Amino acid sequence: MLVTVTTTHRPATDLGFLLHKHPDRVQSFPAPAGTAHVFYPQAQESVCTAALLLEIDPIALARRAARGDRRDLGLGSYVNDRPYAASSMVAVALGSVFATAMRGRCDARPELADTAIPLVIEVPAVPTRGDAGLIHRLFEPLGWQVDTVVEPLDAEFPGWGDSPYARLRLTGTLRLADALNQLYVLLPVLDAGKHYWVAEQEVDKLLRAGAGWLAAHPERDLITARYLAHRGDYVASALGRLAAEVPEENVAPDTVAEQRPARGTAARERRAAVVEALRASGASSVVDLGCGNGELVADLLADPTFTEVTGVDVSMRSLRIAEKRIGVERLSDSQRSRLTLRQSALTYLDDELLGYDAAALVEVVEHVDPARLPALERAVFGHARPGTVVVTTPNREHNASFETLTPAGFRHTDHRFEWTRGEFAAWARQICRRYRYRVRFEGVGATHPEFGPLTQLAVFNRQESEVDPAAPRAAGQDTAVDHASASEGAGA
Ligand code: SAH
Repeated sequence: MLVTVTTTHRPATDLGFLLHKHPDRVQSFPAPAGTAHVFYPQAQESVCTAALLLEIDPIALARRAARGDRRDLGLGSYVNDRPYAASSMVAVALGSVFATAMRGRCDARPELADTAIPLVIEVPAVPTRGDAGLIHRLFEPLGWQVDTVVEPLDAEFPGWGDSPYARLRLTGTLRLADALNQLYVLLPVLDAGKHYWVAEQEVDKLLRAGAGWLAAHPERDLITARYLAHRGDYVASALGRLAAEVPEENVAPDTVAEQRPARGTAARERRAAVVEALRASGASSVVDLGCGNGELVADLLADPTFTEVTGVDVSMRSLRIAEKRIGVERLSDSQRSRLTLRQSALTYLDDELLGYDAAALVEVVEHVDPARLPALERAVFGHARPGTVVVTTPNREHNASFETLTPAGFRHTDHRFEWTRGEFAAWARQICRRYRYRVRFEGVGATHPEFGPLTQLAVFNRQESEVDPAAPRAAGQDTAVDHASASEGAGA
């Protein structure tokens, strides 16, 4: 297993100072299941390459397997790719041989350690697990130019297809410490199996090595899940700590750990569907209940159809973020006169919420304690009683296609529940019966043939502004479900 690091930052031989390994010597260190050698294939003023070669002792590896890791007994202990493919073992070797460099410490060249320098990192065999695209998704957001070559399984038998390995070359201008920390985390992420049991201290190791880049990485959830071998409790703890690292402006406090690399896309699609449903309802005054960071409020303001746009949330912190995001200071007077942001708790009756044509309740109900949900229903459908209410919530069935979930099996640690399509429909139906609305359902976002859409959306329409006992009852009113584009369970 080999990793090389090359720089052309002059004098390039300063790489020896940064790595704390002298370019003139070959040095060897004991590593788990083998020996790590550091040497410099070239060391000139103009270009210098350091190599880490990890020589695996297959016998030691098999002994370790027999001692500790019971999953790997049998032939697999002897016949495997561990000696050749870059893996978590390389990461461990990097972490021990270059520990000081990874911390960014260099007493001989302190400014250089803090400077982004031109780097080329090469790894001859990185496991792809059949998805070489992942290598790009992992390294490109960090500023690397990523070149991968997937070798055929056997050059003489092209029919056998590709090997599950890629030759990897990363080119970029980064601090050496950052580059090493990224490799330390991402090589095991690409690797199929960690060779040691994941212990709780792995969470600390991940966060230390991921400091400054992991929290905002688009593949943060996948990286965390794979690095921690999908141990749900550790993953949740790591994601929680990472969420706390993200600067406030960037994310809603309650949506920080929302799932998926395509999180931004999913949220955009959801907002577009909600705006569309609100527009179709003919509403001019709209209140966004639980507006969070104000993305939907901003979208509504941008549409002149909506002459009055209000966002309410129980969280002052969210409201402040919303105010900044919308740029309230910079709005024209006419824009500003259309907008209201205020604090309100949806589990209490609020007269300020009376009289709106429509309300949005987007990814909010699942944050409310089931015991408090009836209070919210009463405040929204019984008291505020807008003509239209657009509700979205995750479709729990779709979670089956997710790689990471919280220990409770949800998309977010603050979710108190997540509903299947049937459960959402049942909830909606009892609202219709109790508060005299009709409802239709739509799916939003990626739709799985079996598990349905990522997000479920319901549009409730008020039947009478007030319950009028004298009014003739429409036939079948107590079912109160329209089947417009009804998803499963909606009409049952
Ligand atoms: N609608 C936004 C935010 C969803 S996160 C979006 O789609 O991005 C859920 C939001 O509901 C949070 O901002 C949270 O503060 C708010 N919330 C939760 N319980 C609430 C309650 N009882 N009253 C008002 N807001 C509440």
